[in-house]
Amino acid sequence: MLDNFRVVLVNTSHPGNIGGAARAMKNMGLSRLVLVEPEDFPSSEANARASGATDILDQALVVDTLEEALTGCSLVFGTSARDRRIPWPLLDPRESANVGLEQAAVGGEVALVFGREYAGLTNEELQRCHYHVHIPSDPSFGSLNLAAAVQVLTYEVRMAWLAAQGQPTKMSKLETTAMLNAELCTVEEMELFYEHLEQALIEIKFLDPQKPRHLMARLRRLYGRSAVTRLEMNILRGILTETVKAARGESHKRDGL
Ligand code: SAH
Repeated sequence: MLDNFRVVLVNTSHPGNIGGAARAMKNMGLSRLVLVEPEDFPSSEANARASGATDILDQALVVDTLEEALTGCSLVFGTSARDRRIPWPLLDPRESANVGLEQAAVGGEVALVFGREYAGLTNEELQRCHYHVHIPSDPSFGSLNLAAAVQVLTYEVRMAWLAAQGQPTKMSKLETTAMLNAELCTVEEMELFYEHLEQALIEIKFLDPQKPRHLMARLRRLYGRSAVTRLEMNILRGILTETVKAARGESHKRDGL
């Protein structure tokens, strides 16, 4: 189950933090590290800070975009040291580990996403996440070192995993949710849907591309917390296609009118 978790570090400046994150992960039994545009990697400083966890650095996947880093995921947690403009479903690390483990137990791929040392994650990046996770630190000094934040989250994942090992009843509850959750959409499928939705909303003039306000962000938040299955996605896509046809006056043919 721990193999279904990946740690994603976005645009990290200091290679030492990448090494520290790798060490934190290996201590907790996680091994899949994905680096989005790291500033300096591979690096001897990363290897030094990783101590004996250089295997995780060797296997780390380096990609250009967050989208690529999230390929195949059905659940994404974005960590943040502070509140953002659009409120989002917010969990603490313990809650996020439990939710993440339930998803991993039914075969879902789960991402824990961490931001830049100086600027964190952008609003757009955070809006690609199903949940935001905040470590409830002292508000007057709330921002943890990046590798320390990775340690806190991966520790909670391990604790949730250990608790699940000792509790067969909890596991069987997870197994029953498997039947419902097994076919959740991946983030790629959701991204294609958001593109389709945006186009359709523009076409029916619900969305003005000159004045988008926060409509797409709010819709992402709505669908993001809905755990949409593949079957439900087919329905949503069908509705969009027919809506656009109706707006263009093309839907009569289908009814034989
Ligand atoms: N100045 C940045 C701080 C970034 S700290 C900001 O205000 O966002 C680097 C990264 O460590 C963050 O992007 C986040 O992934 C993680 N992090 C640091 N403190 C955190 C906290 N209290 N809760 C959750 N994640 C935290």
